Amino acid sequence: MPERLFVCTPSKLGSYEDCPRRYRYSYVDRPTPPKGPPWAHNSLGASVHTALKNWYALPVDRREPEALPSLLKATWVREGYRDVDQERVTYRAALRWLETYVRGLDPHDEPLGVERVVATKTSVLAFNGRADRIDARQGPDGPEAVIVDYKTGRSGLDADDARGSRALALYAYAAGRVFRRPSYRVELHHLPTGTVAAHEHTPESLDRQVRRAEDMARDIMAAEKAVAGGADPDVEFPTSPGALCSWCDFRKSCPAGQEAVTKDPWEAVNHLTV
Ligand code: SF4
Repeated sequence: MPERLFVCTPSKLGSYEDCPRRYRYSYVDRPTPPKGPPWAHNSLGASVHTALKNWYALPVDRREPEALPSLLKATWVREGYRDVDQERVTYRAALRWLETYVRGLDPHDEPLGVERVVATKTSVLAFNGRADRIDARQGPDGPEAVIVDYKTGRSGLDADDARGSRALALYAYAAGRVFRRPSYRVELHHLPTGTVAAHEHTPESLDRQVRRAEDMARDIMAAEKAVAGGADPDVEFPTSPGALCSWCDFRKSCPAGQEAVTKDPWEAVNHLTV
């Protein structure tokens, strides 16, 4: 019998890479251990992503910054904020970022995909993931697909972040196959600062990222198999304590997480001002 493929998304692989125990809580343990309350920064990210998606869904002649207040209002996620005042300040900041961002876009540019699922298989992985945007651009040798990922976190990003992102590399790998055109450029668009961090992959660097993802998938499948065979799940999926614990949804269920500094759900948007 051929080995079964490991069905995965970038967030599934990223979860194991960050902390095998968190992976276990998310994808192995059933029922899933209780999660903490929703985070305001996740609400903010989701609101901004959906507003941009819906901006691209407008007819070209309506893709103006003026469309954004109603788009953002319609899809605003309210969870996690300290109070209505903080929510209002965050909404205004998000609107400001979006208006600045779309002023720099050509409304006539039709992306290959917006929140587009791309999927591909290797000998180990059945990969699928939803890319924020896949642009059609003209490269030196003809049409290319460019992966665009929106970021709304506090700190800016640089080319090393774009180069090191396995998620972006896997999207590029899959997009090249789905759209049958070269897909090597990946970009992180940081909306709060209006900056773009970019990296040009090569076929070799994408292959390296795929091989690393496959190695991780093999480790995960081996751990899952061991647990199914009676091994101790705490040993097969060890904790990886660190700064991320304070922001982990499973902090209260995890022995290492209970030691971590507690963060309020709105802490990561506290710095935003009108
Ligand atoms: S609290 Fe920390 S160690 Fe525990 S699952 Fe979350 S990230 Fe892993």
